[in-house]
Amino acid sequence: MAKVYKWTYRVEMDKCMACAACELECRDGSIYVYDNMAYAINEEVCTRCARCYNACPVDAIVRIPNEAAV
Ligand code: SF4
Ligand code: SF4
Repeated sequence: MAKVYKWTYRVEMDKCMACAACELECRDGSIYVYDNMAYAINEEVCTRCARCYNACPVDAIVRIPNEAAV
C-alpha cells in the first residue's frame, strides 16, 4: 500500500521565480520545471523532507495538510 503522508508540499506558481533553489535542495528528484516560469513538485516521489520548503527565498512552497491522513 502506498504511504500516506500527513501533508503535501506544493509550489504556488504565481509566487515562484524559477530560481531553482528548491530543485538544488531536493534529494529525491521530485522537483521539475513546469513551464519555464515556475517549478512544480511530483507528489508521488516527494518524501516530505521539507528541504525545498525551507530553501525557497519567497515562500512559494506551501505545506498543505492531507485530511485523509489525520
Ligand atoms: S519536500 Fe523534500 S522530497 Fe519533497 S520536493 Fe521538497 S525537497 Fe524534494
Ligand atoms: S525555491 Fe521557490 S522561487 Fe525558487 S524555484 Fe523553488 S519554488 Fe520557485
